[in-house]
Amino acid sequence: RGWWTSVAPRPTPVDLAIDQPHPARMYDYLLGGKDNFPADRETAERALGAFPRARAAARQNRAFLLRATRHLAEHQGVRQFLDIGTGIPTSPNMHEVAQGVATDARVVYADNDPIVLAHARALLTSTPQGRTAYLDADLHDVESIVTAPVLRDTLDLTRPVALSLIAIFHFFPDEDDPYSIVRRLLDALPSGSYLSLTHLTADFVPAEINGVAQTYQAQGIPLTPRTRDEIARFFDGLELVDPGLVVPFRWRPDGTGEDITDADASGWGAVARKP
Ligand code: SAH
Repeated sequence: RGWWTSVAPRPTPVDLAIDQPHPARMYDYLLGGKDNFPADRETAERALGAFPRARAAARQNRAFLLRATRHLAEHQGVRQFLDIGTGIPTSPNMHEVAQGVATDARVVYADNDPIVLAHARALLTSTPQGRTAYLDADLHDVESIVTAPVLRDTLDLTRPVALSLIAIFHFFPDEDDPYSIVRRLLDALPSGSYLSLTHLTADFVPAEINGVAQTYQAQGIPLTPRTRDEIARFFDGLELVDPGLVVPFRWRPDGTGEDITDADASGWGAVARKP
């Protein structure tokens, strides 16, 4: 074979806007990843100044996502997953956990950040029996997600789907009507589908978390912590899976967790079933 056969086609250029901090890259930095730039690290360090346990909160949020995925695959028999606000790949990713339980599990990932798109290859390492796909989409445009050919080709929307919206809605201020976004997504999914959702809260340490919110807002990122009651509304009309809406590290802990308090985690999360 000639040398040219190994040359990948030139990717479409993406503008990563590295002079601006991005939530996906700041979260990657908090998790100890390397796919972030100085502007992300500076803003994340300022957030850590306001709330020094932000790294533990991010780790525990990520651990919730993995436990919820495992639970849904192992105990609720879910074989289809739609993860919106995926973030930069990290190990393990959702499909690795789901396909570790059931090799035929199918996962569609969606995010609107070009850096997540740039790393999407790491999300597409499916088992031969299962499938994974990536959708470059904005959660504000629900229609574009539920009608996307790549989603329709990967998931059977007549069968239950586990929808995950993990650590994304605190980037949606009230004027974006995040509750209606969840309702419209769930309207596209059949009975027996699930919603997993986590969200930042200032309930435990208001000064610290509001300091974090101000740090993000100063950089044009509308970080919006919500109260437990406000977060509970995302699950209206759904049946909460035991233990209900709790601080994420308290949701079915698997013994691998770290020593952490509610204030350290500063979030609420739950898994619920669509009746
Ligand atoms: N769900 C992952 C990542 C959370 S970070 C986890 O919990 O580990 C939040 C992610 O949401 C980022 O990757 C960011 O790019 C994405 N995001 C924020 N606003 C979005 C929008 N409007 N549409 C799609 N993705 C969005």
